[in-house]
Amino acid sequence: MSPTPSTPPAQANDFETLALAPAMLANLHQLGYTRMTPIQSASLPLALAGTDLIAQAQTGSGKTAAFALALLASINPRWFAVQALVLCPTRELADQVAVEIRRLARAQENIKVVTLCGGVALRGQRASLENGAHVVVGTPGRIQDHLARGHLTLEGLKTLVLDEADRMLDMGFFDDIANVVRHAPASRQTLLFSATYPEGIAKLAHQFMRTPQQIKVASAPQSGTAIEQRFYEVEPSQRLPAVAMLLLHFRPVSTIAFCNTKQRCKDLVALLQAQGLSALALYGELEQRERDLVLAQFANRSCSVLVATDVASRGLDIGQLEAVINVDITPDPEVHVHRIGRTGRAGASGLALSLASMQEMGAVGKIEQFQKSSSVWHPLDELTPTGSGPLFPPMATLQILGGRKEKIRPGDVLGALTSEDGGPAYTRDQIGKIAVTEFCTFVAVARDLAHAACDKLNAGKVKGKSVRVRVV
Ligand code: AMP
Repeated sequence: MSPTPSTPPAQANDFETLALAPAMLANLHQLGYTRMTPIQSASLPLALAGTDLIAQAQTGSGKTAAFALALLASINPRWFAVQALVLCPTRELADQVAVEIRRLARAQENIKVVTLCGGVALRGQRASLENGAHVVVGTPGRIQDHLARGHLTLEGLKTLVLDEADRMLDMGFFDDIANVVRHAPASRQTLLFSATYPEGIAKLAHQFMRTPQQIKVASAPQSGTAIEQRFYEVEPSQRLPAVAMLLLHFRPVSTIAFCNTKQRCKDLVALLQAQGLSALALYGELEQRERDLVLAQFANRSCSVLVATDVASRGLDIGQLEAVINVDITPDPEVHVHRIGRTGRAGASGLALSLASMQEMGAVGKIEQFQKSSSVWHPLDELTPTGSGPLFPPMATLQILGGRKEKIRPGDVLGALTSEDGGPAYTRDQIGKIAVTEFCTFVAVARDLAHAACDKLNAGKVKGKSVRVRVV
């Protein structure tokens, strides 16, 4: 006789230990969230009990679910009022957060989540608000606009979340945040999430939070990943050419090169482009449209190198990164760990290459202490260009003028490219990522097919309509 199966005892990081509805627990199970991440098990019991929190956590730690589960738990779906507000620094993050909240909210009846960010007409957003929203996710400037025009009221607000608070402060949003908070009732719960803890955070906490509890989860590279770290000593004049040497030696398909300043990003991209390498820069002051274009090309592998500052690259969800280059050593060892953690994800091996001048050896020492391991140094002259010719990305990007507004879906574009209309039918493996944004669609195709595929789309139809397409 086989023994009767018994339920294993609940562990401290099981979602079952929380005061969550059975439907939510079932949903988490379906989503594959079997165990709480460290930030979730540290913050959820307190957040669900209504405590104000200051949680120090990075993207990738599961922080969104940490606040989303808390805010969803206190929503009354039958009451049509904005009961939760999440302030985010960028539209990108707001979109990601809204997607995660909607996934988690599937377990509850009819919860409406609306995103309110700049760069889009106010009118449509106003209409969404008029149709009733329980949760609003957006950027501080745009939320303030809607409050000032009376489209949005926060009188029924139960939970306020400040996500990536350090980055919002960095972008100069303190006054906007303060203004928004003044519209919310004092009885609300405030949850603040931030990767770092600059001075402004204490000021926010002091002004707008009620005896907040602080939570910090130690960050370390995720287990199961294999990141090979190599350090190279450089003279200041060698630094930028050394990046090109590293790229031509290791030939990674996708690399993020981290710089400490915007100017360094600009200088490096100029040098790499002059050498025929495909590189684009990402830094704070880019307009959202420029940022979308850069990110689409990098994510779909039609740009090899993304040259970025730490703040600008925060929140990027980019899989399959073969290498990270630290063009400058960061003075903050935790930032170093986050930078290199972007490669070698999910068990794949990754390469982290760091350039350091004599002036940066102090910072390297701090990194060694933090990681509890000494650095492995390699001479620059060991680098030799391998393979043949320059480094080209495998894909190219086509931009279709038309996006979500025109109700274009990835399947429509795939259909147009794989049909016989307007030119030869392409196979699925010749087509890469298809990203639909508000006003346009980016589609990656194998590099040598770019112009022919562009002509084909221009000659044929997408969703039964003619479209305008260009090679980016
Ligand atoms: P975040 O840090 O919020 O950007 O989350 C990073 C990723 O982890 C997202 O794709 C989440 O869907 C996922 N995630 C969040 N919590 C869990 C969990 N407990 N188990 C597995 N995946 C999770």
